[in-house]
Amino acid sequence: MPDSAAPPTAPDWLQAGMDHLWLPYTQMRNLPTPLPIVSAEGVRLHLPDGRSLIDGISSWWTVCHGYNHPHIRKAVVEQIQHLPHVMLGGLVHEPVARLATRLTAMLPGDLDHVFFSESGSVSVEVAMKMAIQYWINRGVAGRHRFVSFRFGYHGDTMACMSICDPDEGMHGLFAGCLPEQIIADVPRSTEQRAAFRQLLKQRRGEIAAVIIEPLVQGAGGLKMYDAETLAFIRQACDAQDHLLILDEIMTGFGRTGTMFACQQADMVPDIATFSKALTGGTLPLAATVATRRVFEAFLSDSPSTALMHGPTYMGNPLACAAAHASLDLFEREPRLQQVAAIETRLRDGLSACRGLNGVLDVRTKGAIGVVELDRAGEANWLKPRLIAEGVWVRPFGNIVYLMPPFVIEPVDLDRLTAAVVKVVSDWSRERA
Ligand SMILES: *Cc1c(COP(=O)(O)O)cnc(C)c1O
Repeated sequence: MPDSAAPPTAPDWLQAGMDHLWLPYTQMRNLPTPLPIVSAEGVRLHLPDGRSLIDGISSWWTVCHGYNHPHIRKAVVEQIQHLPHVMLGGLVHEPVARLATRLTAMLPGDLDHVFFSESGSVSVEVAMKMAIQYWINRGVAGRHRFVSFRFGYHGDTMACMSICDPDEGMHGLFAGCLPEQIIADVPRSTEQRAAFRQLLKQRRGEIAAVIIEPLVQGAGGLKMYDAETLAFIRQACDAQDHLLILDEIMTGFGRTGTMFACQQADMVPDIATFSKALTGGTLPLAATVATRRVFEAFLSDSPSTALMHGPTYMGNPLACAAAHASLDLFEREPRLQQVAAIETRLRDGLSACRGLNGVLDVRTKGAIGVVELDRAGEANWLKPRLIAEGVWVRPFGNIVYLMPPFVIEPVDLDRLTAAVVKVVSDWSRERA
């Protein structure tokens, strides 16, 4: 089995570019050449040598309607013909104004005020600034720490790293340069709940907000917890008057079976962040949305209480047009039914991994299927074998997972689960 998945007929830009590109999460020495992709349609990625792969992970969970959807493409083309971009400082435009109106109408409760940015990490940074300044504006000093959770993931910038899982978030490597936060266990058990309540009470004067990914923790280990636990977290925050931030960047827009994961717990966060599937995986856009109570803490006769943040490309009209088109598709097409059908098929398809030697757990939620192995560092063994099965699946740590586009046909979904079952079974046998 070759280590590299490089095609026999590599295009001329590939090697030349690889001498200069610095890739994400990648040791650049002796790097197997990444797969060149020339086009993508629906759930398929096309390579220059004529091969195509079924995408099992939706380009970091963004491409919910499949690649190159004609409705989104048309909306972006129309937008680029009259207003590709204009700054949002002192100016405003229709796509961004309508998107704020549309998003807040979809969101539960009084999540009514939208601050746009261009990446998930920035939207989380903005949420953190909002929470800290909320207390400052209210005349309360010293509340600048965050309670976040083991296995959480909130982005790669400095403040985001500080609230990630300590191992996955590289807290060791960056020790001394990251703000120190309070990392808790997700309060599933009675004991953990008592400890969580205690923590919120004891350290109340330091805490700006609690931040968590609702129902499914993503890149920190794809751990899941139930709606009742999320409702408990809301109640525990309310009891001590703490702000609760939900990071819906991965879960938002249908991935867990409802439009937003918080709806399953019938609760409303004080601040929520969105990005990944917001534009259906076409253009970068993120949103930090605050409730009226949070927003109103920034209103005064003084400029000093204003939120001092403003990404250059915030509210980019092309990205907003793509987001509108993506939301049209959620309205017109049965996306949530598709997610429910995917959940059943993932559960059935992946169940063959259960009980295999070395498999710790198999779990599903919405259009997310996870096989957890008993040791990390197996990705390099697994990846080329998955590609050889004709699928694009990118294991990380000890996790092999599927998060396909919602439009995937049952036959393609079965190919994805069959590929995972085959490769994990081979792995399980080989390690014995
Ligand atoms: C991906 C992700 C982020 C970071 O978003 P970027 O756009 O990569 O900066 C933050 N939080 C969660 C839950 C994510 O899944």
